[in-house]
Amino acid sequence: MKEQLRFLNALQEIDSAIAKKIELIESIPKKISSIEHRLKDALLLYDKEKQKYEALEKKKKDKERSLDDVSERIKKLKVRTSEIKNNKEYQAHLKEIASVQKEQSALEDEILLSMESSDAAMKDLKRVENKVHAEKETLEEYKKKLAGEIVVAEKELAELRLRRAESVKHIDNDAYELYLKMLESKGGLAVVEARDEICLGCNMSIPPQLFVELKKNEKIMQCPQCGRILFWRGDGDAGES
Ligand SMILES: [Zn+2]
Repeated sequence: MKEQLRFLNALQEIDSAIAKKIELIESIPKKISSIEHRLKDALLLYDKEKQKYEALEKKKKDKERSLDDVSERIKKLKVRTSEIKNNKEYQAHLKEIASVQKEQSALEDEILLSMESSDAAMKDLKRVENKVHAEKETLEEYKKKLAGEIVVAEKELAELRLRRAESVKHIDNDAYELYLKMLESKGGLAVVEARDEICLGCNMSIPPQLFVELKKNEKIMQCPQCGRILFWRGDGDAGES
């Protein structure tokens, strides 16, 4: 029976290691998607900044076109100056030129401001573009690293499963059934150490009489509280064998 307990304990260690490996492998897609999310956010921001920049550029171009129109109007007005005969008409004509020139000067100021806004937006766009590149690079590196981790973890998992199959061969049917039942119902922990009259699975006390029995390691005993299979490691290092 002492042997059985040792094999059960070994099986528990293998099953715990298997559970940990599976958890690690399953956590990888979630890790990747969190980085993908960061890239997606950066791309959304990039689109927003691009639209902002393009709107400002369009505004600037519209103003430049208006400026061309105004300049053309001034040119035409100036050509007409020589055709004007009387003074009253001439004064009105000069006034019109002055008014259009004022419009021209206002447009020039607006274009300067537009250029500044557009340049600032271009800088923002560049900054976000760099962020997108950086996130893409991070994602690629991370994916490569995790792909390597998966390969290693799956290899280790396959080895653990081989060891498990070997280990199960040594365990009696009844003991194995009990083990599986406990493994399933107790969160993957079926075999636990009993130390100082405490079950390390549920942390409840084990009655002294039971603990005395347990220390003999002669039969498979369950914690009266949680039902897990108990084993006693022994006093000090020598007790383990
Ligand atoms: Zn317990």
